[in-house]
Amino acid sequence: MQYLTLTRTVPVVADYDVVVCGGGPSGFIAAIAAARLGARTALVERLGFLGGMATASLVAPISVFNYNGRRVIDGIPWEFIERLIDVGGAREEKPLGNITFSPEKYKLVAQRMVLEAGVSLYFHSHLTGCKKEGNRLTHIYIDNKNGTEAIAAGYFIDCTGDADLSHQAGVPMQPVKSELQPATLIFMLGGVDTGMLPKIRHSDQGVNYHDLDMKRIFEAVGQKQKLPLYGGPWYCGVLDEGLVLLNITRTYANMADNRQASQTECLLREDVFTFVELLRTHVPAFRNAFLVMTAPQAGTRETRRIQGVHTLTGDEYLEATDFPDAVSRGCHPVDIHSAESTNQVCKFLKDAAFVPYRCLIAPGYPNLIVGGRAFSADGISSASVRVQASVMGLGQAAGVAAGLCVPSGADVSGVDIGQLRAVLTNWGANLEK
Ligand SMILES: Cc1cc2nc3c(=O)[nH]c(=O)nc-3n(C[C@H](O)[C@H](O)[C@H](O)COP(=O)(O)OP(=O)(O)OC[C@H]3O[C@@H](n4cnc5c(N)ncnc54)[C@H](O)[C@@H]3O)c2cc1C
Repeated sequence: MQYLTLTRTVPVVADYDVVVCGGGPSGFIAAIAAARLGARTALVERLGFLGGMATASLVAPISVFNYNGRRVIDGIPWEFIERLIDVGGAREEKPLGNITFSPEKYKLVAQRMVLEAGVSLYFHSHLTGCKKEGNRLTHIYIDNKNGTEAIAAGYFIDCTGDADLSHQAGVPMQPVKSELQPATLIFMLGGVDTGMLPKIRHSDQGVNYHDLDMKRIFEAVGQKQKLPLYGGPWYCGVLDEGLVLLNITRTYANMADNRQASQTECLLREDVFTFVELLRTHVPAFRNAFLVMTAPQAGTRETRRIQGVHTLTGDEYLEATDFPDAVSRGCHPVDIHSAESTNQVCKFLKDAAFVPYRCLIAPGYPNLIVGGRAFSADGISSASVRVQASVMGLGQAAGVAAGLCVPSGADVSGVDIGQLRAVLTNWGANLEK
C-alpha cells in the first residue's frame, strides 16, 4: 500500500477538564457524571443525537437493571430511565428491569440531561486521532463541517464502543478472536397485530426471549428456499401501537473496519427486505405489516476491547467475584451469538456480577479511562456487560473517576478508590453483594 504523509495545522478550539468521546449509553452518562462533579466537560459524538446503539441501531429493550427483582444498576442510569418514563418514553418490565422505550424520546431526554449538567456537545464530530506526550493524551482531533479541529483536555474517556480513541492512542487491545459476534441491522415494522405476538415482553429470570414459533416458521420456509442467516427471532415494541423492532438479520463483520462495515450495511439491507416479505407472508401477526425504517446503522455487538490493568474473565464474572475496586455491576445473561449460524449460547448468572475499576484503565496511560463495551474483558464476561444498563454503569463509574481526578491532577490509576465507590454509592449505585 502507498502511504502519504499529511501535515496540517489545526485550531485548538477548546480546553476542558474532561472530554468524553462517544455519546452512546455509556458516553452520555459518563459526561453527566463528570460534569456533576464540577468538571468542565465536553461530549463528542459523530452523529447528531445521543444514544448510540439504542437510537442509531434501534437496539431494544434496554437490558437489564435488576437481578431477581432487586435493582443492581442505579444512580444516573436509573434517573435517566425515570425521566424517560415521566415523558411517556419508557416502560419497565419487572422483575428484570428490561426497558421498552421510544427511541425519539430517548434522544430528547438524554440531550436534556446532558445539557442540564452543563456539558458542551460536539455533534456531527468524528474523533479521528489524538496528540500525546508520552502516553498522556493532550488533545483529540475531530472532523466536522468546520474542518479538522483539536480539543485539549486533562482527562479523556473513550466511550466510542469500538475503542477508537484508545486505538488511536496506541493502547494494546485484547487478542483478536477468529469469530466476532455478528452485526445485525434491526428494522421497524408498522401495522403489526402485537396482540398476536406471544413474547413482546422480556422479563423472566432465566428465559431467552426469542420466539420459538416464529423460528419454526423460518425453519420450515428455509427447507423450501434459501434464507439469509438469521438469529432469534427477537422483537420489541416501541410503545406505539402496531410498531415493532425486529432483531433477525445477522452476518459476520468486523465493524471497526470501514470496508467490511460498508459491505455489511448493503448485505443486511437486502436481507431486511427478504425477512419483511417472509413475515408478511407466513406470520399472521405481520400480515398487514409495512417497513417503517431500517436502523440508521447496523448494530455492532463486538469489536475492539482494551487490554486493561485487569481483564475481567468469564470465570470471575460467572462466580460474581467481588473486587475491592468494584465500581459497577452486570446482571444480564452471558449472551454469545454465532456469526455463522442461528446459534446463541446463553448462560444465566447465579448472582449479579461485579466489574472492577482496573478494567476501565490501561497500564501506563495516565489520563485515559474507557467506559462502555470496549472495557477490558474476555469474550465471555463482555458478552454480558455489553448490554445497555451495564455499560451505563461503566460510564457512570468512568465519569466519576475522571471528575475526582480533576482537582488534584492525579493519574487515573491513582484515583482514591474509597472516594470513587463512596460517590457512586451516594448516587445510588449498588456495589454491595
Ligand atoms: C443486534 C444487537 C442487539 C443487542 N441487544 C441488546 C439488548 O437486547 N439489550 C441491551 O441492553 N443491549 C443490547 N445490545 C448491546 C448494546 O446495544 C451495546 O452493547 C451498547 O449500546 C454499547 O454501548 P456503548 O456506549 O459502549 O457503545 P455504543 O452504543 O456503540 O455507542 C458508541 C457511541 O460512540 C459514537 N462513536 C463511535 N465512534 C466514534 C468516533 N470515532 N467519533 C465520535 N463518535 C463516535 C457512536 O456514534 C455512538 O453514539 C445489542 C447490540 C446489538 C448490536
